[in-house]
Amino acid sequence: MPGFEVFGNEEKKEIQDVLDTGVLFRYEFAEQRKGVFKVREFEEKFGQYCGTGFAQAVTSGTSALKVALTALGVGPGDEVITQGFTFVATWEAILELGAQPVFTEIDATLNMAPADLKKKITSKTRCIVPVHMLGAQARIEEIVEIAQTHAIPVLEDTAQAAGGRIRGRHLGTFGRCGTFSFDAVKTMTTGEGGMIITADEAFWRVMSEYQDHGHDHIINPGGRGGEGRRFIGSNYRMMELQGAIGLAQLAKLDTMIIAMQKNKATIKEAASSIPGVGFRTLIDEKGDTATHLAFFLQDSEHCRRVNEVLRAEGCGAINFSENAWHYFPQWEHLLNSRTLTSSGWPFTGADGKRRFVYDPESLPDSAEIMNRTLVFPVSVKMSQERLDSMCLALNKAGKV
Ligand SMILES: *Cc1c(COP(=O)(O)O)cnc(C)c1O
Repeated sequence: MPGFEVFGNEEKKEIQDVLDTGVLFRYEFAEQRKGVFKVREFEEKFGQYCGTGFAQAVTSGTSALKVALTALGVGPGDEVITQGFTFVATWEAILELGAQPVFTEIDATLNMAPADLKKKITSKTRCIVPVHMLGAQARIEEIVEIAQTHAIPVLEDTAQAAGGRIRGRHLGTFGRCGTFSFDAVKTMTTGEGGMIITADEAFWRVMSEYQDHGHDHIINPGGRGGEGRRFIGSNYRMMELQGAIGLAQLAKLDTMIIAMQKNKATIKEAASSIPGVGFRTLIDEKGDTATHLAFFLQDSEHCRRVNEVLRAEGCGAINFSENAWHYFPQWEHLLNSRTLTSSGWPFTGADGKRRFVYDPESLPDSAEIMNRTLVFPVSVKMSQERLDSMCLALNKAGKV
């Protein structure tokens, strides 16, 4: 979770450029802005970095999901498949569009299990949203292949894995589009912010116009001449200050990943000493962004004992099976259909009938994995002292 760790003079310089012009809006003000278009430049550089043609900046990772799903035509009556281990934002976006989130099992990648995906595809499936959780790759090539046989688009939720790759190819470029988050705890941060990347120009133009109230962007970006509107839109525009910070953070992304890979390798080596330990499956270890180390213990009891020792040593790990923000059986507001609408939408339809219900026990394979998994977040800057104490704690935990 490192973006904020490296905030420095580079970010300040980029912000100063914006403050010097006084233009905070990404469009218009041609004369006053003196050629400074930070959001536009951030989009161009981010797209180039990922090796894809088009990038659309938005206000958050959640709005990136909403804008992309909207542009794919998702709405009421559609099902969107994602995984039962993700941040709540993934399915919040699906529900907000009135579609039904359908959850798959995860496997040892801690991401979508392709075998279960096959079982969950129906005639109503409108999009498949695998998530590259905790910095590392989903089985994206397999997932895209399955989706293609059904002609269903894949949206990669890459919020937690900017800079991640498989054999050099960037995550977010395998599916129809990839969405990113730059919120306060993501690998690169703009405080709040998001991005969608795609190789499809026509699809990008739809997103570009939708996130800007439907303004005609034929003279995109920057120009607002022809004000025709092809469809209704909304406002998810990123502002110049965020674009400026994004440019400075993007330039540091690969260096941050290298530093985290080094720290992670040290911790992984120490964790190997625990009898019976296993590690999360990585599709390509070189392309792992190394923001987390996830390891499997023999069973939930072993997991509890190990974490007790780690905690006593001041190095407690995360057990995501207890985590209320990332794991399906813990999403009590979703499971109990809690919504602010008086009608009960989106859980209750216009006819007053329940549209869908969720059973917390419907993902047993995921539970089997999650109950014996521990996770350490990895930082860019970890002192030798901190690394040493983690290694010592892991050695002790290996003896219980
Ligand atoms: C952070 C995150 C999001 C949402 O991003 P925000 O910028 O916080 O809205 C979506 N999906 C996943 C997997 C995330 O971790």
